[in-house]
Amino acid sequence: MENVVSINGISKKYGKALVLDNVSLEIPKGSIFGLVGRNGAGKTTLMRIITGLSEPTSGSYSISGVSSSNKNILSVRRRMGSIIESPAVFRNLSAYDNLKLQYINLGMTSFDSIPELLELVELKDTGRKTAGKFSLGMRQRLGIAVALCGNPDILILDEPINGLDPQGIIQMREILLKVNREKHTTILISSHILEELSKLATHYAFIEGGKILQTLSSEELMSKVRKSSRIKVSGTESLCPVFDREKIDYKLEGEDTIDIFTDIAASKIVSLANEAGVEVISINENNESLEGYFMNLVARKEGLA
Ligand code: ATP
Repeated sequence: MENVVSINGISKKYGKALVLDNVSLEIPKGSIFGLVGRNGAGKTTLMRIITGLSEPTSGSYSISGVSSSNKNILSVRRRMGSIIESPAVFRNLSAYDNLKLQYINLGMTSFDSIPELLELVELKDTGRKTAGKFSLGMRQRLGIAVALCGNPDILILDEPINGLDPQGIIQMREILLKVNREKHTTILISSHILEELSKLATHYAFIEGGKILQTLSSEELMSKVRKSSRIKVSGTESLCPVFDREKIDYKLEGEDTIDIFTDIAASKIVSLANEAGVEVISINENNESLEGYFMNLVARKEGLA
């Protein structure tokens, strides 16, 4: 798959503080790439660098094959829309006028596509109402529309879901999926909540303390957070050979605990345990949550797990 953004060993220092540490990432064309990290992990700093708002201390990146050191990077950046920190929305202007102003900024002379853009972000009925009177969700959606003016190839969104209510989150997700599918826009989106991103991202990078901990596709992530049943038994020694014989996928988690990954009925587990002469004390669903997976990664980095 072609990469639309390649980041090669970027570091960023503020004074003595190293806030990005040798970050390398490949963002595939057409992907929805989730950058997941806790507050202060370095997500905004990385996005500011890619969008040209800040310079890296060392390392380089390229956008659509054009290196950050090439002067043509400026014209490539015009093919990029972004919302970093807060949306570029004028509160005293209506949604239509905000978009018209952005069209003019971009040197566009026809405003014919504005209604379509307003419809895409579900703001077509806001008329003369000014953005200052919008809800947070509406302002965020208008910010997305402003970022989409000129039909960019890449959309960079820093925590666009932050502060939205559940309905606002669903609406934002549906709009971003539509933009990605219908306009084939590559989206780089950050969040500190993996669960939220998991409903739309196709790829992930986990960042903590300025370092990339892991990059993986959504299929890889889902296979890692697989469902299991956790059983507690009076003894595991005689039970494991029975599970092996039955080709059951399991992992020993302690002297009396086994996680079973094969989809198998509780009654079958009990009958196999009977056969092995062990007593089943409990059987519980044990779904490692996405947040749990992320926190485990972070804990491993901190040497806690
Ligand atoms: P958040 O969601 O809280 O914004 P983040 O992952 O986006 O988190 P950054 O905003 O990139 O994190 O910040 C990373 C680190 O860099 C933090 O420790 C922050 O305090 C520091 N930092 C960011 N900008 C500056 C700056 N201009 N001067 C000094 N330190 C900064």
